[in-house]
Amino acid sequence: MSRVYNFSAGPAVLPEEVLREAAEEMLDYKGSGMSVMEMSHRSKVYDGIIKAAEADLRELMDIPDNYKVLFLQGGASQQFAMIPMNLMKNKKAAYIVTGQWAKKAYQEAQNYGEAVKVASSEDETFSYIPDCSDLDIPEDADYVYICENNTIYGTKYKTLPNTKGHTLVADVSSCFLSEPVDVSKYGIIYGGVQKNIGPAGVVIVIIREDLITEDTLPGTPTMLKYKTHADAGSLYNTPPAYGIYICGKVFQWLKKQGGLAAMKQRNEEKAKILYDFLDGSKMFRGTVRKEDRSLMNVPFITGDQDLDAKFVKEAEAAGFVNLKGHRTVGGMRASIYNAMPKEGVEQLVAFMKKFEAENQ
Ligand SMILES: *Cc1c(COP(=O)(O)O)cnc(C)c1O
Repeated sequence: MSRVYNFSAGPAVLPEEVLREAAEEMLDYKGSGMSVMEMSHRSKVYDGIIKAAEADLRELMDIPDNYKVLFLQGGASQQFAMIPMNLMKNKKAAYIVTGQWAKKAYQEAQNYGEAVKVASSEDETFSYIPDCSDLDIPEDADYVYICENNTIYGTKYKTLPNTKGHTLVADVSSCFLSEPVDVSKYGIIYGGVQKNIGPAGVVIVIIREDLITEDTLPGTPTMLKYKTHADAGSLYNTPPAYGIYICGKVFQWLKKQGGLAAMKQRNEEKAKILYDFLDGSKMFRGTVRKEDRSLMNVPFITGDQDLDAKFVKEAEAAGFVNLKGHRTVGGMRASIYNAMPKEGVEQLVAFMKKFEAENQ
């Protein structure tokens, strides 16, 4: 068996320890005589799995009691509709457009009411986070929406926008559990888990209880009401049971690593290795304004498309895979999520140095 260093933006690298444990439990989960894939989501043994996953997530993120944790399906993209359907009481919401995912959410919301673009960084290919300290947010906006870490462009909010008292809704798909957060500053924090937590198919929504109401937009399907899932403890229908089980294992792994403060420190160390190299290199350079750089997704270019392609190809042959930038932006992107070991980043940088020397 040989494992590569996988820099994919998602689905992405998972902790090897978690994969080994899951493999060991594949045929017989703790004496149940079956795989977690085969068991009823209403069984006692599965109830233990989902309850433990929620409890561990609550502990890791220090989630206040007046927030619900929902394990849903439909990808982060389904939330682009679910959020306005459930929250747009005044049929108006403010969107800050810092990349493709925020833009898609903004466009989707237009199906349900007035989505107001209050700031954008599209003028410079989303390479920065706009100043959000004093935005013109409509008085009657139901919420302010952000994508906190922009997976494709590699930017991250270092301070949250001043919402002027409005509810903050954040897509944290690609920075989920990468550092501590103050949950109480948000109305909703949500993300697809396939970036930094687990396998594709699970979306975690952390939502303040007062936002969970019967009062959704007319025609909202039962399955798209937060209340449906909150009332049923994420077991209204069959949840993505196996995926939740793997997420639970990752939460356990994160606790063993020392929790989110320790992860933040490790993530900063890892990102620094790569950014320091990019800042000193004559061949490679980062594409993002320094103060807005993401700890998770690091886009970079050589400035020469042929050289970029050569780099990606040779890197892959050397065991550094999925470094090609998003199809819409080109260049390279290294996603260095929680489960990417520091050695992976060190070895990537060593490879980049060698490539630079060989291709002067
Ligand atoms: C990947 C990603 C999405 C889309 O996730 P799906 O689960 O494929 O719908 C949305 N937002 C962000 C920030 C992402 O990184």
